[in-house]
Amino acid sequence: MKRVYNFSAGPAVLPVEVLEEAAAEMLDYQGTGMSVMEMSHRSKAFEGIITEAEQDLRDLLNIPDNYKVLFLQGGASQQFAEIPMNLMKNKTADYIVTGQWAKKAAQEAAKYGRVNKIASSEDKTFSYIPDCSDLPIDEDADYVYICENNTIYGTKFKELPNTKGKTLVADVSSCFLSEPVDVTKYGVIYGGVQKNIGPAGTVIVIIREDLITEDVLPGTPTMLQYKTHADAKSLYNTPPAYGIYICGKVFKWLKNMGGLEVMKARNEKKAALLYGFLDESRLFKGTAAKKDRSLMNVPFVTGSEELDAKFVKESKEAGFENLKGHRSVGGMRASIYNAMPYEGVEALVTFMKKFEKENL
Ligand code: PMP
Repeated sequence: MKRVYNFSAGPAVLPVEVLEEAAAEMLDYQGTGMSVMEMSHRSKAFEGIITEAEQDLRDLLNIPDNYKVLFLQGGASQQFAEIPMNLMKNKTADYIVTGQWAKKAAQEAAKYGRVNKIASSEDKTFSYIPDCSDLPIDEDADYVYICENNTIYGTKFKELPNTKGKTLVADVSSCFLSEPVDVTKYGVIYGGVQKNIGPAGTVIVIIREDLITEDVLPGTPTMLQYKTHADAKSLYNTPPAYGIYICGKVFKWLKNMGGLEVMKARNEKKAALLYGFLDESRLFKGTAAKKDRSLMNVPFVTGSEELDAKFVKESKEAGFENLKGHRSVGGMRASIYNAMPYEGVEALVTFMKKFEKENL
């Protein structure tokens, strides 16, 4: 068996310990004589899995009691519609557009109400986070929306926007559980789990209770109402059961590692190594504004499309997978999520140094 260093932006690398445990339990989950994939979502065994997963997530993030945790489906993209359908009471929302995912969310929300683009970094290919300390927040805005970590462009909000009292909604798909978070600053935190937490197919929504109401936009399908899933504890219908099981294992892994403070320190150490090299390199260059650099996604270029392609090809041959940048921006991108070990980043930097020597 050979494991590669997988720098995919998502679905992405998972902790080996988690995969090994899942493999060991594949045919017989804790004496049930069946795999988690085969069991009823109404069974005692699964009830234990989902209850424990929620509790471990609550412990990791210090989620207050007045927030619900929902395990849903439909990808992060489904939330682009679900959020306005559930929250747009005044049919108005403010969006801060810092990348393709925020832009898509804003476009989707515009189907349901008035969307104000109150800040954007599109003028410089989304390479920075705009100043959000004093934005023209709409008095009628039902919420202010951000994509907290921009997977494609490698930027992250280091400070949350000043929403002037309005509810903050954040897509944290690509920075979920990468560092401690003050949940009370948000109305909704959500993300697809396929980057930092588990296999594709599960979306986690952490939502303040007062935002869960029956007063949703007319025609909102039952399955897209937060209340449906909150009332049924994510078991209104068959949930993405196996995915939730793996997420639960990753939560335990994170707890065993020491929690989110420890993950933050680990992630900072990994990112510092890679950014440090990019800053001193004579060939490679990071593309995100330094002050806004993500700890999770690190885009970089050589300045020559030919050399970029050569690097992607040769790095793959050397056992580094998925370093090609997003199709919309080109270049390279190394996603160094929680489960990427320091040694993976170290090996990548060593390879980049060698490539630089050979190609300068
Ligand atoms: N938001 C962010 C920040 C993302 O990186 C992505 C994509 N991977 C999405 C949303 C869309 O996620 P999904 O494919 O789960 O709909």
